[in-house]
Amino acid sequence: MRCSCVKLSDVLLTVLGCSGSTPGPQAPSSGYLLEADGFTLGVELGNGTLAELQAVRDPFALDGLLFSHLHPDHCADFSALTVLRRWHPNPPVDPWQQRLPVYAPKAAPTRFAAQYAPDEVDRDGADLTDVYDFHALAPGDRDIGPFHVTATRVAHLCETYGFRFTYRERTLVYTADTGVCDALDELADGADILLGEATWTHAESRPVGVHLSGRELGELAARANVGRLLITHVAPWTDADAVLAEARAAYHGDIALVTKGAKYDL
Ligand SMILES: [Zn+2]
Ligand SMILES: [Zn+2]
Repeated sequence: MRCSCVKLSDVLLTVLGCSGSTPGPQAPSSGYLLEADGFTLGVELGNGTLAELQAVRDPFALDGLLFSHLHPDHCADFSALTVLRRWHPNPPVDPWQQRLPVYAPKAAPTRFAAQYAPDEVDRDGADLTDVYDFHALAPGDRDIGPFHVTATRVAHLCETYGFRFTYRERTLVYTADTGVCDALDELADGADILLGEATWTHAESRPVGVHLSGRELGELAARANVGRLLITHVAPWTDADAVLAEARAAYHGDIALVTKGAKYDL
């Protein structure tokens, strides 16, 4: 059930942004908060999400950051967070003493340094490990705070991971950006919530194997027999209601398009 309260049967999912591939009008790109036991995990930090994060939480309250892949619509605001962590005159925590754990594909430290500092001179003073503690993702399991996280490579243009979060007996699966693939079916199997990307409608022309259509996401949710389907990452040029209708035709359970600022419980 969608709620306006801070509750996700002990876990809360907050949507900072969900616009697919690029931001849209008043619509940041991908970004989510997953919270339990007082632990706040940021998942993606796409274009525009730091503004929304500041509207709902103190960015210094993040306990960890997780990135599925390094396309701008999933990580562009990392640079803005870096400015905040380096230059805020009166931070509530000391960012150098409490480096933020960042879980991301292995290219993240170089990619983020280049994003933050435009030339070698600037980069000499911008080793991001002063305020971040980077952990390279690989397929497999790890614990991040109270969450057990299974990472699986999915089908996209670059190194990309889908995630299965388990907290106690509840599971939330996030597809990240992906085309249809067997790994995704395995990851989503029996999840309580599937937070799934559907960038476009099935009829739109598109590269194959890069993103899901509404129909493909609905079919995935049906095959995996998930408890609830939350649709995200619809491109701003796509008719979101048409994507929803496609998914609904294939999956007959609880289904919704996520929106910026929405909160969901498990
Ligand atoms: Zn994307
Ligand atoms: Zn992508």
